[in-house]
Amino acid sequence: MITVLKKGTTQAQMEHLIEWLKARNLDVHISHGHDYTILGLIGDTSKVDMELLSSLDIVESVQRVSGPYKQCNRQFHPEDTVISVGNAKIGGGNFCMIAGPCSVETEAQIIEVAQKVKQAGADILRGGAFKPRTSPYDFQGLGAEGIRLLLEAKKATGLPIVTEIMSVQYLDLFADIDIIQVGARNMQNFDLLKELGKTDKPILLKRGLANTLKEFLMSAEYIMSEGNQNVILCERGIRTFDTYARNTLDLTAVPVLHELSHLPVIVDPSHATGKVHLVPPMAMAAVACGADGVMVEVHNDPIHALCDGAQSLKPEQFAVLAEKMRTVRKAVTQ
Ligand code: PEP
Ligand code: MN
Repeated sequence: MITVLKKGTTQAQMEHLIEWLKARNLDVHISHGHDYTILGLIGDTSKVDMELLSSLDIVESVQRVSGPYKQCNRQFHPEDTVISVGNAKIGGGNFCMIAGPCSVETEAQIIEVAQKVKQAGADILRGGAFKPRTSPYDFQGLGAEGIRLLLEAKKATGLPIVTEIMSVQYLDLFADIDIIQVGARNMQNFDLLKELGKTDKPILLKRGLANTLKEFLMSAEYIMSEGNQNVILCERGIRTFDTYARNTLDLTAVPVLHELSHLPVIVDPSHATGKVHLVPPMAMAAVACGADGVMVEVHNDPIHALCDGAQSLKPEQFAVLAEKMRTVRKAVTQ
């Protein structure tokens, strides 16, 4: 972190500030220029309140050299993190396809979808048991019964399972779930993130509807700072002024997150677009820009789906897309 002092700062004022910084376990490197004095702060600056420092009378400006996120920062951990669940690997050059319905509805539905997406090459099955719906009157998911049905689908196909948690009170129900998802609406539910940080389950963290990439990484940091290093970042579109699609898919996030962090980055083109015909092109674009995986909603009978039918591919459409994604992946990695 670099702190530029204002012209005219006295020696006594500077020493007072240095004392304050050293009390925060920082070393200070002083560099005297013609007009300005610059203090280089060395050490863990993640706990320094940048706004407070900037507001001091003698401070001209403050700039971070490294992000306030440490554990997910590539600067401190250059190698890619690879997360393994069952036979699937995410990150570090491995490509992973996650597919399944928005919500688990019946045993027959989840087993049929699981078998079909597996046949098409999916590595992981998704399905919501606890659903964060915009309206309280919409289908809220089957809850504990949904988790039980997901585990039946795992038994039938061997596919690892990812499903969303909404409240820490249900954590025990997730004991046999392979990846716990934190949805966009809970990206900054810090109590939930901290509790998940105390587990050793892989966490699929979705970007909030209106959150910056820095805020996204800070949420990953909440999980990691409690000990759990198994975090997968998921770009799922953000809210912008355009209303044609459900959200605006920010694919820039993929190379940027790869640059800033060692964590795997996947893309969800289903919630990003909300329209079934937009899912395949955006899924392929995600693969082309280097995503470590794609998560797609697939339903055996989209027109009768209890949730997100308009953005759900039929299994046969997913099979075509899966083949195309493999082709794109091959083209961009060879
Ligand atoms: C989901 O994946 O089921 C979901 C609700 O997604 P998001 O949190 O991205 O809206
Ligand atoms: Mn959905």
